[in-house]
Amino acid sequence: MKQEHILIIGAGLCGSLLALRMAQRGYKVTVVERRPDMRKQHQDAGRSINLAFSDRGLKGIKLVGLEEQIKPLCIPMHGRMIHDLESNTVFSPYSGRENEFINSISRTDLNIMLLNEAEKMPNLNIHFSLKCERVDLEHASAVFKDYTTNEQHTFSADIILGADGAGSSVRKSMYLHKKFLFSFSQNYLEHGYKELTIPPTQDGGYRTEKNALHIWPRGENMLIALPNLDGSFTVTLFLSYSKGEHNFDALDTKENILAYFEDQYPDALKLMPNLVEEFHENPTGPLGTIKCSPWHAYGKVCLLGDAAHAIVPFYGQGMNASFEDVVVFDHILKKHSKTNSDQPTRWAEVFEAYQHERKKDTDAIADLAVDNFYEMKSHTANPLFQEKRKLETAFEAEFPHEYHSKYSLVTFHEDIPYSEALRRGRAQDKAILNLIDDGVLTEEMELQEKLNKVKTETEEILHED
Ligand code: FAD
Repeated sequence: MKQEHILIIGAGLCGSLLALRMAQRGYKVTVVERRPDMRKQHQDAGRSINLAFSDRGLKGIKLVGLEEQIKPLCIPMHGRMIHDLESNTVFSPYSGRENEFINSISRTDLNIMLLNEAEKMPNLNIHFSLKCERVDLEHASAVFKDYTTNEQHTFSADIILGADGAGSSVRKSMYLHKKFLFSFSQNYLEHGYKELTIPPTQDGGYRTEKNALHIWPRGENMLIALPNLDGSFTVTLFLSYSKGEHNFDALDTKENILAYFEDQYPDALKLMPNLVEEFHENPTGPLGTIKCSPWHAYGKVCLLGDAAHAIVPFYGQGMNASFEDVVVFDHILKKHSKTNSDQPTRWAEVFEAYQHERKKDTDAIADLAVDNFYEMKSHTANPLFQEKRKLETAFEAEFPHEYHSKYSLVTFHEDIPYSEALRRGRAQDKAILNLIDDGVLTEEMELQEKLNKVKTETEEILHED
């Protein structure tokens, strides 16, 4: 049988993992990436420098056999370190179970690891500095422009997988195609983000707790910080573009920036000697959710990763979900290949089954990520929420097999689909908050009794829904 040829557009996190997996499956794989090779040329900042990497992402890494290689790139973060206005801190673990934590990882290091592994495959080729301009959906070919020479190049294959991120040109070709109905939505938050830095100490140490995700929740806005291997932290300010008391538009002078940080984030300010320069130099990025359907066309083209479902970053799940996409896609491909091993792959069926299985879950994580925006920027500072988290941590520590918070279900239970994590997690949250607020969970009650009450209330809520 002829070796089938897959063209993957985009060699970001999803595209390079996908390429490696498809090559491991024996397909001929061509990858085309808009940017120069990041291993040879430093890329400008502007995309998140580090990311929270957790169990669903790890599932993708395990699929391609890189579990050991990724370990040295990871910094475990065991919980949220919450900083209040008076510079007091409270540590809130992500889980009551010791083995449940997330990791901070450099986007570039991870991408480079995947590119290096992909390039070891003899049946895989990567081309850089070629931007996809348009895709011929019916014939699986795509036109690229080389910005260094202005030349155009056309690549054809049996199928095209679009992994070209939130601004996907493949998705745009589907949107502009007139022959089938393509639904598309894009919802921006009023907030944007800007990345800043807490540099390492002079001897390369960390200026604040290393193994935590730091949050400065301030109601409408927030600051977060994730550690890097060199002792620095990447700090991200989430702030409204132009609305509210504080906003990016108003932070236009050195004095305004310093006054805002002194007022809102005094302890962080002490750790950020280059704040003003970075604030002016670094771009402000938008935050949005993209949903679309169908993800595929003519059995020739299919979207994966952010190209199909970009989400806001507040659950730290965009990359994790994109890696899980590869796992689900691979699983479906395997199921469809089993009975037809000497036949060409029935791609239209694979794409349809893939979207059928996956879209409800990526829709769910998109909604959960917006929920978490509100939870992180304001609820983490709220005493009711803190009481709920304390109780949940106690349940998880005392009854590790009986209770899993919404955060745990989303982040640490890669066997539970996002849609189920959303359904159960939201019901549990509602149950626990109702019970605390109504004073049902009294001091004298044993923890087991409290858990029983939460379980009963959760089941009632689930039943009503
Ligand atoms: P991308 O990583 O965007 O890769 C797309 C690739 O396609 C790029 O290399 C791009 O150059 C290339 N490309 C684009 N257009 C073209 C074209 N026309 N032709 C050829 N190539 C093209 N996720 C997490 O899991 N945890 C986090 O903590 C987290 N934090 C985040 C923080 C911020 C501020 C943001 C913005 C996102 C965050 N994410 C996080 C989400 C994560 O970055 C994305 O979900 C992930 O990068 C998606 O991978 P992807 O490969 O689909 O897209």
